[in-house]
Amino acid sequence: MMKRVLVLGSTGSVGRQTLDVLAGLGETHRVVGLSAASSAERLGEQARRFRPEAVCLVNGAPPGFEPGPDCPVLSGADGLVELVERTAPDIVMCAITGAAGLPSTLAAAHAGAVLGLANKESMVLAGHLVKDACRRAGGRIVPVDSEHSALAQCLASAPGDGAGAPRGVRRLVLTASGGPFRGWSRSDLADVTVEQALRHPSWEMGPRITIDSATLMNKALEVIEACQLFDVPAQQVDVVVHPQSVIHSMVEFIDGAILAQLSPPDMRLPIRYALGYPERIESGDGPIDITALGDLTFEAPDREAFPCLALGERVARDGGLAGTIFNAANEIAVEAFLSGRAAFTAIPEIVADALESFENQADPDLPTILDTDHRVRHHAADRLVQLAT
Ligand code: MG
Repeated sequence: MMKRVLVLGSTGSVGRQTLDVLAGLGETHRVVGLSAASSAERLGEQARRFRPEAVCLVNGAPPGFEPGPDCPVLSGADGLVELVERTAPDIVMCAITGAAGLPSTLAAAHAGAVLGLANKESMVLAGHLVKDACRRAGGRIVPVDSEHSALAQCLASAPGDGAGAPRGVRRLVLTASGGPFRGWSRSDLADVTVEQALRHPSWEMGPRITIDSATLMNKALEVIEACQLFDVPAQQVDVVVHPQSVIHSMVEFIDGAILAQLSPPDMRLPIRYALGYPERIESGDGPIDITALGDLTFEAPDREAFPCLALGERVARDGGLAGTIFNAANEIAVEAFLSGRAAFTAIPEIVADALESFENQADPDLPTILDTDHRVRHHAADRLVQLAT
């Protein structure tokens, strides 16, 4: 049966790689919808090539935008939710970056689709709501974060796969590349430039996630994401720095066995795994030269130079609204850093300040999450102005 695929965030890094994979699949998958925030030109090209049934430009279509015949153009955040409803997809690739991806992830979960979840913020802000909606509608989450895809692949052999925590697991070990500033001290980091921070040693990604990799914020969000996805407590999730990015994560079992998933760093693997699930899709690349992978090394992360990691581990333990506060402050701080309005080291300061300034709450509902997200953004923006003066 042909799978109907909706790609949310199709002009971003994961979205484009998803279409790249889909272009090679032929009759098994069909692109039924595409969305972008504001990259109209690129979305138009994608639509004329893949002929979806509808598209959404969240920030509105410019004059003359032409996605092809019989292809309605939706807009606004509501347009994303309408796109999910209108296209009735079997698989939704949730590849929007940031908290902005949450409402459409939830809509896809309510629709009972398989969620190819690249939007980690959905789990960080509202993991309990997304999981609950999936359970009720009979959908399923297949992570498209390389680490979580690795964990899911390692856990596929564990009893209790599916609902609830897998059995026999001692801990999940997330690998981190360490980013471009691995080995730098806190004082070295004070004068980091945007250009330096955007130069990631092993992965090609969008700007926001590249900065998050440099601060280890990305790994912090991934710890929270792992707790949510696999129903394990934060105490059972560890981080190890592995600069080669060949082992994408590991599961240690109670008998002392460790399973790891290895592959050259390429997002198209987790994308293929989600698009094909539960089947594997042929990569077309031929056998991997294992001798060319070289040495694999491991070291402990430096939580002092990169305070975001320890903050995130605390957030993972606390749960509730803490993930929303943590993420919103970071999104604002990263935007400020990228536009030259804040120092690299201001990012963890802004995040720590937000966690102290807002009260946590267990099991928040969606309006509370969205309202808190909004208020934290304002608070963080104000703090940034204070820091700058
Ligand atoms: Mg990742």
